Amino acid sequence: MARYTGPVCRLCRREKTKLFLKGAKCDTAKCPMEKRPYPPGEHGRDRMRQGSEYLNQLREKQKARRIYGVLESQFVKNYEEANRVTGITGETLLRILETRLDNVCFRALWGASRSQARQLVRHGHVLVNGKRVTIPSYRVRQGEVITLSPKARTFITVRHNLDTIDRPIVPWLEASSDRFEITVLNMPLREHVDAPVREQLIVELYSK
Ligand code: SF4
Repeated sequence: MARYTGPVCRLCRREKTKLFLKGAKCDTAKCPMEKRPYPPGEHGRDRMRQGSEYLNQLREKQKARRIYGVLESQFVKNYEEANRVTGITGETLLRILETRLDNVCFRALWGASRSQARQLVRHGHVLVNGKRVTIPSYRVRQGEVITLSPKARTFITVRHNLDTIDRPIVPWLEASSDRFEITVLNMPLREHVDAPVREQLIVELYSK
């Protein structure tokens, strides 16, 4: 599956907000958003003005895609699925994104960023109910148990992340005492999703 491999800090600058795509660097003064909080490029500063309704909707969609590391085609599929299900489409869309396996590994603090968590999944270090799953977009379900492989438990990066990341485990997940096992207690509610996204604008964009 293709994915964006360019410079990620540009994405934050384009969205004019911190998307926290780089792990530890995001909380330091080295974050480019601290020094240059305007879109990249020669005319970046010109893009600071308030945009049209369409532009605002587009930017919210791009922001959500970039936070969760999802390409456009997959994002559209996620939206179509959310639209089919009974309930509030925007909230369902966020729930679909939030229950991705790579996001759960990020929430478990195994990865400092979603892309680092995604790599753990792609490299076969994550098991769901005891079976290896290498698909980052795999959707976890209530009651499933996500574990880290014995080899990955010894990784310096994983141990460093668990020791240093100061982020609480979200209420819909429960971590074991050694924090290498995560149980999905419930599906996430809107208030459990901290992504700075106005999902209603995304729904308006795709409803046109
Ligand atoms: Fe975004 Fe993090 Fe880069 Fe700052 S350091 S611009 S928050 S990815």
